[in-house]
Amino acid sequence: MSHLHTPANGPGGVDRDGYLPPWPVDYPNVLTCDACGVPIERPGQGMLRWLSHAVPTGSPPRRSRLTVVHHASYTPSGRHADCYVPPPADCSWGDEHLAYVCGAEGVCRLLKMVNCDGLPFLEAAVMIHRLLVPGYEQARRYERQAAAEALLDAAPLDGLLRPQDVREMLLHVDRWEEEMEP
Ligand SMILES: [Zn+2]
Repeated sequence: MSHLHTPANGPGGVDRDGYLPPWPVDYPNVLTCDACGVPIERPGQGMLRWLSHAVPTGSPPRRSRLTVVHHASYTPSGRHADCYVPPPADCSWGDEHLAYVCGAEGVCRLLKMVNCDGLPFLEAAVMIHRLLVPGYEQARRYERQAAAEALLDAAPLDGLLRPQDVREMLLHVDRWEEEMEP
């Protein structure tokens, strides 16, 4: 791994030797990059990213589009631009190491972003579910199939699936994966 540039230390992130701790043993999900769709093998290989909107001086901050992407050093080969896209006009990207939002402290940090930094609550709620509801990251790709088969108790709210729906969906994920194979 010596050819890889290692990002700065973060909570639970990368140590000085470039060792990347795996997801905690009891961690329910391995997150998938929102830009390229490839799993992020370890927390130290991912970044939390959001848009910071330009606001008039003195106005409260505003953030949106909270996503998880590969750290530039761990972008899968063959992809250009490091799972990065230019921000829209009047916006800039903000980011933090993915390990920053793992675990109980991570939930607190996400809620602080809602409370103090202008992040919509729903976006933080989806991220917390992705991180902490077992199987959420696996099931969320099949929201359309679950809805078509009337497996959901109610329509999901902008990508926010309820844990009981996720448990039901996990019983069907293998079949859906087979159906999606070319
Ligand atoms: Zn990626």
